[in-house]
Amino acid sequence: MSARTALRESQLPLRRCVICRDSAPKADLLRFVRRPDGEIVISDQDHGRGAYVHVDSPCMSEAVTQSKQIAHALRRPLPEGLLDRLGERT
Ligand SMILES: [Zn+2]
Repeated sequence: MSARTALRESQLPLRRCVICRDSAPKADLLRFVRRPDGEIVISDQDHGRGAYVHVDSPCMSEAVTQSKQIAHALRRPLPEGLLDRLGERT
């Protein structure tokens, strides 16, 4: 049974957290995305350049103090207030 679980997990698409640089299944990560129109949003559905941060982990709070790493990954400064909303989600 554990082997089957491992197989299934190995097939999940992995994304790298921009804070700790560990990989994790997409479901465990919050996705910041720079949409084609240039707006940065937190979304799983919008297309564009993405940056991921672990949900339910210290990475979430570090994202507030290390927002430059997200901005660097997206190659654009984060909009004012975006990370405030992030805090409300936790
Ligand atoms: Zn992380």
